[in-house]
Amino acid sequence: METDQIRMCPTHGYFRGEKCQCDQAGRPILDGGRTIQLGKMVSGALRHFPEKLRLEMDKRGWVDMESLITALEDRYRWFYREHLFALIESDVKGRYEIKEDKIRARYAHSVDVDLDFPLNERPELYYGTTEEEADRILEVGLKTVNQRYLHLSTSFDEAIRVAKYRTDQPIVIIINARQAQESGIKIMNVSEQICLSEIIPPTFLEIIS
Ligand SMILES: [Zn+2]
Repeated sequence: METDQIRMCPTHGYFRGEKCQCDQAGRPILDGGRTIQLGKMVSGALRHFPEKLRLEMDKRGWVDMESLITALEDRYRWFYREHLFALIESDVKGRYEIKEDKIRARYAHSVDVDLDFPLNERPELYYGTTEEEADRILEVGLKTVNQRYLHLSTSFDEAIRVAKYRTDQPIVIIINARQAQESGIKIMNVSEQICLSEIIPPTFLEIIS
């Protein structure tokens, strides 16, 4: 829980944990429990249930920042607008994006959005999975379940890291991204680690052995 708290360093701004990278403890902003609670609500609203907070989401996934702040104020007595900015700015995974007076989640949507990130330029991408699943994927392709987009890894190591949450012996599937994109499949570059993709047929997949 201590690692989840948000504090404010006078030099480096909001950070998670007990000490900033510069070793200053700074000023407490939000304790670990509330950081987790707020994070779940914000990511949930922006990825899965905007209607629960009565938010209107446009096709690109954007919602009005002030409406989100008002909804959070109504929901949590302890909440101040600074907490939302602290949550977003201290998020090292870059889950959120702010533009003018709007906010959106960058990935992991289940709602039907049509995101507009820059197209991927890497020739190959990676998908870490279990041994059983890998066989099935090579047969039927990569598809989403409950998710709007597939999440692909930008490196072999990242694919291993992700798959290790589910199995001790990850299998990494290589996606021939260049060919897939040339055939018309949309793959977007979202962060250093993640690309989002439409479904990918088996033709563009192979297993590293
Ligand atoms: Zn600092």
